[in-house]
Amino acid sequence: MSRVTRFAPSPTGYLHLGHAYSAIFAQKLAKNASDQFLLRIEDIDPTRCRKEFEQGIFADLKWLGLDWLEPVRKQSEHLDDYSLALAKLDEENLIYPCFCTRAKITEEIERAGIAPSSYGEAVYPGICKKLTAAEREELIEKGQVPALRLDMAAAFRRTGVIEWKDHEKGKVRSDPRVHGDIVLARKDIKTSYHLSATIDDHLQGITLVTRGEDLAGVTDIHRLLQEILNLNEPEYRHHKILKDKRGKKLSKRSSSTSIQSLRGAGYTQTEIINMIKSML
Ligand code: GLU
Repeated sequence: MSRVTRFAPSPTGYLHLGHAYSAIFAQKLAKNASDQFLLRIEDIDPTRCRKEFEQGIFADLKWLGLDWLEPVRKQSEHLDDYSLALAKLDEENLIYPCFCTRAKITEEIERAGIAPSSYGEAVYPGICKKLTAAEREELIEKGQVPALRLDMAAAFRRTGVIEWKDHEKGKVRSDPRVHGDIVLARKDIKTSYHLSATIDDHLQGITLVTRGEDLAGVTDIHRLLQEILNLNEPEYRHHKILKDKRGKKLSKRSSSTSIQSLRGAGYTQTEIINMIKSML
């Protein structure tokens, strides 16, 4: 079977060595003639994404010698796909509106002494899940805009234990309930990374999702969404995260490892590949 992989950067900064590694990793796994390597721009957040960063991504990837099958999927052009999925989940009572502010959530977590998940995320304490339909309507009439949260317990009743196929390790079992009622549509942008990425992996026909191991902990969320939305199930492979000399994750804010500045300083593609190799 031919394989389809992708690289899915967010244009919130210039690409650094870690992104270059991730893109090369994905393309290398689509090496047969019938395989495809696709590119997706994850630009759902207009407050953080910039056109110049998007153009920088294309320029850096081309300079590194990568090529991808057109068209590039830009998430901001497909918001209707995410709304449709949300409508389906709403019809099946798997999401609910949440009017909480961040401060209110933090206050309730502290009051009730709720521990963060095993991944360090703050787990939503379920405040708005208890609202009646009339209370929800009243808040909306007052002009409050809600986020939409997944009713994790209801979704899990549907799916049972989640399994995913790790391309290296085989079958992995995971319990997505540790994440609690995650946001599927933010108040401001009406979607979220989890929802958009999962739907796009399906719509782009991705058969092998490759990404950094820092995201391995949310793969069960994506598998759960695939189950409740009847989407295809890809395999997963999580690669190492490049760290700097102090052992810290590379940052988009630091120019010392940005491909643009390294290019500007006269480094060649081979030197950059060697730099990546030495960091692995
Ligand atoms: N846009 C995400 C990032 O830049 C990609 C996540 C993924 O590959 O699923 O971290």
